Formats: sequence, structure tokens, C-alpha cells
Amino acid sequence: MSNDCSHLPPDLTPPPLTASGCEACLAAGKRDWVHLRFCQTCGRIGCCDNSPGKHATAHYQQTGHALIRSFEPGEEWFWCYADEIAFEIAGAPQAPSY
Ligand SMILES: [Zn+2]
Ligand SMILES: [Zn+2]
Ligand SMILES: [Zn+2]
Repeated sequence: MSNDCSHLPPDLTPPPLTASGCEACLAAGKRDWVHLRFCQTCGRIGCCDNSPGKHATAHYQQTGHALIRSFEPGEEWFWCYADEIAFEIAGAPQAPSY
């Protein structure tokens, strides 16, 4: 596990949730995502690349918000789109659950 990511917030506190599912899917009236990802910059929830919408990746491409976290129960990993690294942080605050 590498931790060479410069996008981590200093205190690792997750941003407040802005929705209980992929916001772009919900806006389109869909709930067909596979897994959810949680933007660590603004708190937006997006669906993973196995989902039809791929909205988490689209969110990064639109905003440059590089750091996401898994939003799946029991999964603690982070992923940085800019650095293309996945890592876990011991003792990081729990992501909020939906
Ligand atoms: Zn990074
Ligand atoms: Zn979506
Ligand atoms: Zn964001």
C-alpha cells in the first residue's frame, strides 16, 4: 500500500454526505449502480466504473476532485485518480453510511 498521495485532507475527516446514493443516477431516476464511491473533496456520491453511469470517474473528470473513498460498508480504501494509487489509512475516521 502506497501513501504517496498529496490530495489527502489534513485531518481525514470525511466531508458531509450530500445524498444517500449516486446523485447523478438519482437525478436521472435510476438506482442501477453497482458500488458507490465517495468524493473526499465535496462529499458527492458517485457510482463506480462497473456501474452503467460511471459517475464517480465522471465527477473527477469534471471537477478535478482526485480523492475518493469506497462507500461500501466494511471497505476502507481510498483511491486517488490523479496519482492512480489505492491505499488504506489506519485509524482514518469511518466513512458515514447510508
Ligand atoms: Zn493524490
Ligand atoms: Zn451514477
Ligand atoms: Zn467532489
